[in-house]
Amino acid sequence: MKLGAHESVAGGVSLAFGRAEAHGAQAVQIFTRSARGWSAPPLQAEERRAFRRAARTARVPAIAHGSYLVNLASEDPLVRTRSLGAVREELQRCEALGIRSLVLHPGSHPSRRRGLRLVARALDEVHRSLPGLVAQVCLEVTAGQGNCLGHRLEEVEEILLRVEAPGRVGVCLDTCHLFSAGYDLSTERGTAAVVDEAVRRFGRRRIRCFHLNDSLRPRGARVDRHAEIGRGRIGLPAFRFLVNDARFRDTPAVLETPNPDRYASGLRLLHSLIRK
Ligand SMILES: [Zn+2]
Repeated sequence: MKLGAHESVAGGVSLAFGRAEAHGAQAVQIFTRSARGWSAPPLQAEERRAFRRAARTARVPAIAHGSYLVNLASEDPLVRTRSLGAVREELQRCEALGIRSLVLHPGSHPSRRRGLRLVARALDEVHRSLPGLVAQVCLEVTAGQGNCLGHRLEEVEEILLRVEAPGRVGVCLDTCHLFSAGYDLSTERGTAAVVDEAVRRFGRRRIRCFHLNDSLRPRGARVDRHAEIGRGRIGLPAFRFLVNDARFRDTPAVLETPNPDRYASGLRLLHSLIRK
């Protein structure tokens, strides 16, 4: 894995790479805009150039995380229109920055069946309106809090089976979410079985990135609360398995742990788990 972290873009998106370097990160995840607003001022040409320059120099893969407001399963016409607009805009920002993967939570809906269909339809609309884009949505497996869709691998798979262009959708696996959703990550063997299932359902190539987070809450709690690596309920075996999984040697795997001041030590801990 290319072990990295979600870095701040305060002061400009290109500054994330310097922060990544300071943390010893070999991959970086960013928000290309405020994660809490519906729209953002367009990226200036100078900012785009600075980002591409910094990416070339740093030579670490970059991925983006989408806005938390987006809900592609919403039935509310206003929320739906805004969500589709936000995803389009974020994909275009990724394209302009040379970022291939935009991580998104599938959405939330009281009916799983109907919700998953709405997500697939929303993605179809986005894809139709943006032909020929390199940047792709990466659906993240969720903790299944409340009505959040996508806490089972089969739900994410169902979206992929329903979209018109499945080749334009990737998947992101988050250890905290999987564990909180009920998957057994307590041992290396259990973790291997979960990853094998994901590979079987999605194909290895579609799994574009990992989020490496420990979980504050126990397995199956279905509450999304990240903890520092080794300080939560998952423990180290899951991470030991993942950092040694040769199938994902070049896949970005980023920390989204609560305290960026602990990124460097978290990454050192993960590196110490790699078998020589
Ligand atoms: Zn995540």
